[in-house]
Amino acid sequence: METKQKPIIGIVSPCYNEALVLPETAAQLNEIIQDLVLRNIISGKSFALFVDDGSKDNTWNCIEELAAELIHVKGLKLAGNVGHQKALLAGLLTFKEEADALISIDADLQDDVRVIEKMILKFISGTDVVFGVRKERVTDTFFKRNTALFFYKLMKLMKVNVVHNHADYRLCSHRVLKALAEFGEVNLFLRGIIPSIGFKSEVVYYDRLERFAGESKYPFRKMAAFAWNGVTSFSNYPLKLVTIIGFAVFFACLIMTGYAVFAIYTGDVVPGWLSTVLPMYFLGGVQLFCFGIIGEYIGKIYSEVKQRPRYFIDKRVD
Ligand code: UDP
Ligand code: MG
Repeated sequence: METKQKPIIGIVSPCYNEALVLPETAAQLNEIIQDLVLRNIISGKSFALFVDDGSKDNTWNCIEELAAELIHVKGLKLAGNVGHQKALLAGLLTFKEEADALISIDADLQDDVRVIEKMILKFISGTDVVFGVRKERVTDTFFKRNTALFFYKLMKLMKVNVVHNHADYRLCSHRVLKALAEFGEVNLFLRGIIPSIGFKSEVVYYDRLERFAGESKYPFRKMAAFAWNGVTSFSNYPLKLVTIIGFAVFFACLIMTGYAVFAIYTGDVVPGWLSTVLPMYFLGGVQLFCFGIIGEYIGKIYSEVKQRPRYFIDKRVD
């Protein structure tokens, strides 16, 4: 029987000042690819791509050297620092036509590379998206663990569809990447977009390890900005919240009116109190409610402006 063509797999990692970890990461990824090629699971054209996100150290020299030395290593240099999400996107979109699936992984070896094979096997058996999900966060600091937990809670509260404990370690098939390319928005929040695309997805679990070398490029300030960007680029819910609060205040005002009328009858009231306080509650409620309505329209404008693709087709039969 003729063997089926082996898929070309690309592994994409964004790098910002990662000269300390790159030699090790490149060597490990190269070896994994070589091994999978030898075992006839993936094509020899598979590659590991390092995207230099405008690093200030000698990350790019390092990538060039590694690309010359290791057969499966490639590099891409961005003109300036655009941040993890956009750097990753640059790698995925630039190389999407050169592979059957791309796996994204951080350059610091915190995501267990042994899971790559599992991801690929799931892809070969017909899955379009494979999410890498952290089992436990034992190696993370107390602070990181809890801020992350808060992040997933917030996302859920704001009705953003994200996979719990999944960062940007995932495999996407060619057609998912093609779908991704159709999103025209500037603030692309990958963890929200990918689940919203659809297609068959699966999860693989792994333990998150300690950073191999160097330090985290995500201080609290960046993490908070990232979470907030996730909410605001994905959800109209904060705008809806205004309507809800307005309605609640208005409702509270009604209850206050009831109480005030009751107070008049019991005689337990300071003159002038009612006519000062009630209009304040009332107007406050009405104003918030009106803001909320304006917010609803802004929300609509916001989703129109993004011009997101409306659907993706999975299959058809003729
Ligand atoms: N990164 C990047 N651009 C940036 C910041 C980070 O490409 O502006 C990369 C970084 O090199 C790493 C990945 O994003 O490969 C995740 O960053 P880091 O490991 O510092 O974050 P943490 O794991 O601490 O959340
Ligand atoms: Mg890291």
